[in-house]
Amino acid sequence: MQFRDLNKQYFALKDKIDYSVLNVMNQADFIMGREVKELESKLSNYVSKKHCITCANGTDALKLGLLAWGVGKGDAVFVPNFTFFASGEVVSDLGATPVFVDVDKNTFNISTYALEESIISILNEGILIPKAIISVDLFGLPANYQEIKRIAQKYNLLILEDAAQGFGGAIKINGIWNKACSFGDISTTSFFPAKPLGGYGDGGAIFTDNDEWADMINSLKIHGKGTSKYDNIRVGMNSRLDTIQAAILLVKFEAFVEYELDDINRAALNYTNMLSGVVDVPDIPNNYYSSWAQYTIKLKDSYQREQLMNKLSSNNIPSMIYYIKQMHKQEAFKNNYRCYNGCPVSQYLTETVLSLPIHPYITDDDIELVSDTIIKSIY
Ligand SMILES: *Cc1c(COP(=O)(O)O)cnc(C)c1O
Repeated sequence: MQFRDLNKQYFALKDKIDYSVLNVMNQADFIMGREVKELESKLSNYVSKKHCITCANGTDALKLGLLAWGVGKGDAVFVPNFTFFASGEVVSDLGATPVFVDVDKNTFNISTYALEESIISILNEGILIPKAIISVDLFGLPANYQEIKRIAQKYNLLILEDAAQGFGGAIKINGIWNKACSFGDISTTSFFPAKPLGGYGDGGAIFTDNDEWADMINSLKIHGKGTSKYDNIRVGMNSRLDTIQAAILLVKFEAFVEYELDDINRAALNYTNMLSGVVDVPDIPNNYYSSWAQYTIKLKDSYQREQLMNKLSSNNIPSMIYYIKQMHKQEAFKNNYRCYNGCPVSQYLTETVLSLPIHPYITDDDIELVSDTIIKSIY
């Protein structure tokens, strides 16, 4: 059994993907080809944002967002303390200070109470200027945007939605489903192969309604270009999505929308039905929809988790700990970060979480095998 079976997906889509890739080879239009534009247009339509700008990876996408806002030294950017390293890395990379905020025990996403407390602490400290919130849609579930937007407005902060794991998720607001990548002033995603919408290499995208920021990002991602890439009006970077990746993603996006999201939600429900009452299963709040980048359970303590991992592993079932270390404890941040109130929930999660194999092509038999192995290990 595989943790996320990309091979199975490839064989389901092989004819279309092979055709699509060969087509790019025949056109020899490898950089900024037609497929890139087509993908950007389909994705911006899907999430209902005016602009979709693809780039080389999800980390660059975040960085380009912060660059468009001029975030740098002396700025405070609020980041959940329980997420993938890149969510905070981009802040430090630009010389700004990441403020790591505790998360919610049930959703794994940024705690809006801890967020407001952290903002007040930064204001009281009086050294850094609160600038932006990087709200992460962890494991496929959108963060609590109704509340995050209220706080952002109150303290005049920008929202950078990190939907690297969240593409395909949604929140129903006033009867209408709003998609992940539509909640930020700027939103980003990643096409890393194992993400909900993954390519066959690195890739990323940025979404916004703001024309000025979109222009800036389009320039920054191609060497700070002005009217052409040989007219350089600022120092930028080289961060483009390959045409071949776009061609693959066009095929995968069709499957993603047509059935993969439904299928992975069915798989998650299946797990939840089998494991409720045995372990702490993920909790999707009312009016939220997850794209299940991970299906993450919580064990009683790190000892029980280790026992279970061993048991799974001896049955050839892979499992992963996302994440084993809190952000503020990563050595890379040691010279410049803030973290108030100790983040007890993040600490608890790093000791108890375990992610199980899940993907749209997982069989009911596999889910039953994993669940039975867990039940036997716990009792
Ligand atoms: C994967 C990931 C990123 C970075 O995406 P890459 O395409 O790997 O650079 C950023 N944030 C989160 C939460 C992620 O999971």
